Formats: sequence, structure tokens, C-alpha cells
Amino acid sequence: MTIPTDTPQSFASLALSSAMLANLESLGYREMTAIQAASLPEILQQRDVIAQAKTGSGKTAAFGIGILAKLNPAYFAVQGLVVCPTRELADQVANELRRLARCIDNVKILTLTGGTAMRPQIASLEHGAHIVVATPGRLLDHIGRNSINLGTVQTLVLDEADRMVDMGFYEDIVGIVAACSPRRQTLLFSATYPDDMRQANQSFLRDPVEIKVEAQHASSQIEQLFFMVTPEERNQAVAQLLFAYRPTSTLAFCNTKIHCRELTEELQAQGIDAIALYGDLEQRERDE
Ligand code: ADP
Ligand code: MG
Repeated sequence: MTIPTDTPQSFASLALSSAMLANLESLGYREMTAIQAASLPEILQQRDVIAQAKTGSGKTAAFGIGILAKLNPAYFAVQGLVVCPTRELADQVANELRRLARCIDNVKILTLTGGTAMRPQIASLEHGAHIVVATPGRLLDHIGRNSINLGTVQTLVLDEADRMVDMGFYEDIVGIVAACSPRRQTLLFSATYPDDMRQANQSFLRDPVEIKVEAQHASSQIEQLFFMVTPEERNQAVAQLLFAYRPTSTLAFCNTKIHCRELTEELQAQGIDAIALYGDLEQRERDE
């Protein structure tokens, strides 16, 4: 199903509690984004969903509202599980879920990601969590140690599923899915959904509805420029472009960690306020 993106729809058309509707209003969510309008009715009907939409289209609230709509805060067990590719994304998702959960008393949302000690996570799990947001490796560690019980999961979300596969997490996800209750609802969110992934995921999902929202910006609204430079000129060319265009903020993507470091050093040497972000950094540096 492919949905046009220009028909605004109110959250009030959904079967949500008045507390949730008021909360969404207070968050400034006046109408549903296209992916929310297309997926939430299916999610709230307990269908398994494969949702494809670009970054920034409000996918977190789509699955977050779905998890919270059927959450029982009086039952201290993991009812919602969200698996994300990186720690940073897990933190972002947990923050958004906390904002969405403001309208329900005593919802405990726990992040389980690598790079921090196991022990405090185990202690938090012992205290009980309703929703866990996790990266695959750390979650598998907990499953292996029996420090988490996923048999009570009602909603399993695989967020940024394509990126998790790209990062080599497919086998981990198979293990995580196997640890979850077979009676769960499964929601898969992805920017792309290639055929091999469709094949691989078949066993995770039960008669899923596929929803795809086309990119909202026409390509004509984004100007793309291509500069051909030699490898030796490359870092210098980036600096020159920044001086020429003077953007307030910029993201530069490099294909290796080494190149990230080199480019950052070059930009800093030219007086540009630049920092590098890549996998090997300490968690503190990454958060910064
Ligand atoms: P995605 O996961 O699709 O990349 P996010 O879930 O991170 O996108 O949402 C992007 C931003 O949009 C967030 O800042 C979120 O708070 C905001 N947002 C989500 N839903 C709505 C809505 N219905 N109205 C306004 N803003 C929204
Ligand atoms: Mg997202």
C-alpha cells in the first residue's frame, strides 16, 4: 500500500485514550505524519506491520503509541521491546517513548546498550521494566545470562531494520526474535526493504501489512552538487566549500574512521569547529 503524503489527519480519529490525545497535543503533535496515519490504524488493530518511510517522518511515535496503547503498567514485565542498531538511536527512541508515556503513571523504560557495565542493567531489570530499548549485542548478552525474560513481550519493534542487517546484526536478531513470546505483535521499521530482507524476515512476521510512504521532498527541492577532486585535494576542498557556503551546521560523511579523523583535523586546523563521530570512540566522546 502506498499512501499519498498530503492528507492531514488528526490523532483523534484513532482509538486512543483522552490522556494520550492530550499528551500528543502538549507535545505539539497536531496531526499525524503520513507514516503515522498509514500505520497506526493497523498497529492498533494488532496487525504485524512492515513500515517504510524516510528518516524524520515520525516512525518512533508510530510504534511508541502502539506499544503504550496496550501497555499494562500494573504488570511488571517487559511488554514492549524495541531493538535499534546503535546506542545513540536507542537513547533517542527511549527519550521519545518517555515523552509519549508521560500521560501514563509509572511506566518504566530501560535502555540496554553496550559500552556500559552489565551489573547496573541487571539490577534495573530486577526492579522490573515495562519497555526495553536495546541494541542487539547487549540484549543477546542479557538473554544468554537469563537476566531478561522476553516471554512476556507483546510488541516487538525492529527499528531501522535495514541498518541492523547492514551492520551484521541479522543473526543476533534471529536469536532475539526466538526469545520473544510467539504471541507478540511484530513491527518492522526500515528506510528500505530489499527483497532479500523480505525473504529473511518472513519467519519473524505474521501476515504483515506493508506500508510505504514516499519521500516527502521532491528531489527538485534539494540541490545536489558534485565536485571532482583528487584524493590529495579532498580535505582541503571540503574546507574551501565550507568557507564558500558558510552553512550554520553541516554533516560530512566519510567512508573510513581514518578519513573522519583526518578531515576533522584539517577543518580544525583551518579554524572550523568540527568534531568526529565513529564507532571506536568512548561512549562519553560519542555522547558529546
Ligand atoms: P524517524 O524515526 O521516522 O526518523 P522520528 O520518530 O525520530 O523520525 O521523528 C522525527 C521528529 O518528528 C521527532 O522530533 C518527533 O518528535 C517529531 N514528530 C513525530 N511525530 C510528529 C507529529 N505527529 N507531529 C509533529 N512532530 C512529530
Ligand atoms: Mg527512527
